[in-house]
Amino acid sequence: MDDAAVIGAGPNGLAAAIALARAGASVVVVEARDEVGGGARTAELTLPGFAHDVCSACHPMGALSPWFRALPLAQHGLRWLHPTASVAHPLDSEPAVLLRRSLPETARGLGVDARAYERVFAPFLRDPHGLLADLLGPLRLPRHPLRLARFGLPGLLPATTALRARFRGRRARALLAGCAAHSILPLDRPLTAAVAMIFAVTGHVTDWPVAAGGSGAIARALASYLATLGGRVETGRRVRALRDVPPARVVLFDTSPAQLADVAGPVLPAGYVRRLRRYRYGPGVFKLDWALDGPIPWRDPACLDASTVHLGGTLEEIAAAEAAVWRGEHPGRPFAIVVQQSQLDPSRAPAGKHTGYAYCHVPAGSTVDLTAVLERQVERFAPGFRDRILARHVMRPADLEAGNPNYVGGAITGGVADLAQFFARPAARLDPYATPNPRVFICSASTPPGGGVHGMCGYHAASRALRDLDARARRAM
Ligand SMILES: Cc1cc2nc3c(=O)[nH]c(=O)nc-3n(C[C@H](O)[C@H](O)[C@H](O)COP(=O)(O)OP(=O)(O)OC[C@H]3O[C@@H](n4cnc5c(N)ncnc54)[C@H](O)[C@@H]3O)c2cc1C
Repeated sequence: MDDAAVIGAGPNGLAAAIALARAGASVVVVEARDEVGGGARTAELTLPGFAHDVCSACHPMGALSPWFRALPLAQHGLRWLHPTASVAHPLDSEPAVLLRRSLPETARGLGVDARAYERVFAPFLRDPHGLLADLLGPLRLPRHPLRLARFGLPGLLPATTALRARFRGRRARALLAGCAAHSILPLDRPLTAAVAMIFAVTGHVTDWPVAAGGSGAIARALASYLATLGGRVETGRRVRALRDVPPARVVLFDTSPAQLADVAGPVLPAGYVRRLRRYRYGPGVFKLDWALDGPIPWRDPACLDASTVHLGGTLEEIAAAEAAVWRGEHPGRPFAIVVQQSQLDPSRAPAGKHTGYAYCHVPAGSTVDLTAVLERQVERFAPGFRDRILARHVMRPADLEAGNPNYVGGAITGGVADLAQFFARPAARLDPYATPNPRVFICSASTPPGGGVHGMCGYHAASRALRDLDARARRAM
């Protein structure tokens, strides 16, 4: 019997397995797919020679993750490629707004709000890694309570309220509305201001990178390091019931709460299972990948400096689009996230060609084909874009869920991260990673700190499981 079994080889499952193995535990990871990675995979989705990121593409949280930074992932092939701007936010009839590492340079691009922007962000850049360690941790006494309060109190506000109160001009409001929209919440909901601030802060600490060769390189590096610690990964093994779980002292689920309930339901109290079943996943995404004949022909060529381009126009337009999605509608001009990996990584496409990546939020389980709508939104800021398309690959919410049952209804970040579910995920408990069964833990993005390829959910869940393993080992002595 192993000390620990991990169900799922996503970034959090692998991060958890590494934490366990580094502490001396014997670990086996079982993965449904034929390859590791979950949300960090790369594949030729369109044409031969075009390497597309199937899910995650851009990795500020991966590069800044306290756990990933502690691991020798570079020795296992992970190389971050940094752009010269994290975000470009094109607007209809003026130059694009750029989020650059330099605070003064970014501020200069914001016109009337230059000083206000510097005033808001400068305090957080004195020890950003300390702040991120607090933000990426579970709910606990923060190491820097004053700084966290300075961040957290305004962060509790809705983005619409905070941005209108702090900034007068369209440019700062648009840039930060695009950052806030990563929350996949209506921007008039509490906590969306915090998401805007976190994403902007990361852009001033590191230029949002892509992984050389594709996001799959992150998972391969984690798996390769895990192997050196003696951890085993068994792919092609989907766990559907308890009998499929390898024998182990503790089991960590890198899965949705729904799957935890399906598989471990028989060994969990009915009340807890009911709470897992009430978990909310939120909107899905509609995603396009393109093989392109050249770079995206942005009206403002400065957009090519950025790894990520936020399409959606003004704060008002983005807020309206995200609110519509939550009403079950498909906005005609959706907020879209575009990533330009091949601008930084020529290995992604044949010489002179490029990959293109974009997605927008849609109502959960939507079956609507938004290809024309999404391409029109790119064309709006990059006239001539459609002429560059050599081939495209479409993923609707059902395709995402078929590829990974964690993406319930096409939701990509482990579930709604609103005030009720941000810390209390998957259920309100003092220790969100533990379940009422002392042998069963959950370590996926459906635990704090939530979605993204950063491995922190896995790290915290493993730390919790290790305390349990240690206690049992002491009792056995
Ligand atoms: C389209 C899209 C774009 C994204 N963009 C970004 C981005 O740019 N940057 C970023 O940081 N994050 C991004 N994300 C989010 C990020 O990918 C996820 O938050 C992250 O992968 C979560 O990691 P995880 O380990 O919790 O789960 P997952 O990555 O979902 O991994 C879970 C693994 O468990 C396996 N599994 C599930 N159920 C079972 C079972 N029953 N038995 C065996 N194996 C099982 C799955 O096959 C999968 O390999 C994106 C996600 C998507 C889908």
